[in-house]
Amino acid sequence: MFNNARISLTAWYLLIIMIISVMFSTIIYNVESNEIERFEQIQRLRIFRRLQERGIVIPNYQSPPPPFQIQYSNPELLEEQKQRLLLVLIIMNLGILCISGGLGYVLAGKTLQPIKEMMDEQNQFISDASHELKTPLTSLKSAFEVYLRDPSPSIHESKTIMKESIVEVNKLQTLTESLLNLALFKKPHNHSIHTIVATTEFITEAINKMKPIAKKRQINIEFIPIDYKIKGDKYILRDLIVIFLDNAIKYSPMKSKITIQVTKKMNHVLISITDQGIGILKKDLPYIFNRFYRADTARSKAVFEGYGLGLSIAKKIVENHFGYIQVSSIHGKGSTFTVVLPKM
Ligand code: ADP
Repeated sequence: MFNNARISLTAWYLLIIMIISVMFSTIIYNVESNEIERFEQIQRLRIFRRLQERGIVIPNYQSPPPPFQIQYSNPELLEEQKQRLLLVLIIMNLGILCISGGLGYVLAGKTLQPIKEMMDEQNQFISDASHELKTPLTSLKSAFEVYLRDPSPSIHESKTIMKESIVEVNKLQTLTESLLNLALFKKPHNHSIHTIVATTEFITEAINKMKPIAKKRQINIEFIPIDYKIKGDKYILRDLIVIFLDNAIKYSPMKSKITIQVTKKMNHVLISITDQGIGILKKDLPYIFNRFYRADTARSKAVFEGYGLGLSIAKKIVENHFGYIQVSSIHGKGSTFTVVLPKM
């Protein structure tokens, strides 16, 4: 498909270039033909005049009134000149055809490459998303089939199936929400809605949101409020910290500690979220921000629920705020995710 589009785009480039080139060649041919005729007439007239001055009379010659009459010209010579001009123009046009064909092909490739990459990425996204959606849908389907096969299910069995189904529906909800967020943050961001926000404000809101989940696992979230001002969307920044806290809680053992630290370095504000969790293997670090990427340690253990979308959403949010994310992690000891944002 890419090659067909490339060839058809090259053909369009060629068609436009050749139309322009042939148009100009026709104009050049007409103008130059007239010029040749005019030049030939002037030369002829000069010779006649010179001969006349020397007293040489040419029979049947009368000084031609301008414009110079054509019957005094040499038609064979004129025709030869015109044909030569035509040949030069044809060769030039063939040259333009070959060169613009080659250049057009290269240019068409370069023009279509980003579109191809975008389409490949979109196809990959659709196939990954479908794959992730398939698992909870299959579980739901088999739960309902088992239920229907039983002629007289007990209330207890019905409730169990309902509970399992709700778990799967919740998973579907989380996944669709994440997919929607990812699509939302991938769009060009409206920076005009950014306001000046205090770091304490959105970090405290994120902590309050995640506290009940942390409490269930007896995880303590430590935060020493230090205020720096940054420019951004308060609610989106809160969701950003929620993503890191959610991961920190999810990948940490019971009764552990999560620390949030805010520091300043040059013109940047650094927000670090440190946990004492399972950590990330060195080989996984370059990929954890990729969509749907889950490290084997997270994937293999059923307790760590997730779809590998959180960090890719976080990356998009931080990029939309002109910042970046740093990670340092020791496998088995814990991880630190640092969000670096421009300071106001
Ligand atoms: P999810 O957590 O839903 O799998 P994320 O995109 O948030 O997806 O994270 C991608 C992967 O990065 C996770 O699967 C996990 O392997 C790793 N990861 C992220 N945060 C942490 C953390 N705090 N501790 C250990 N591993 C982490």
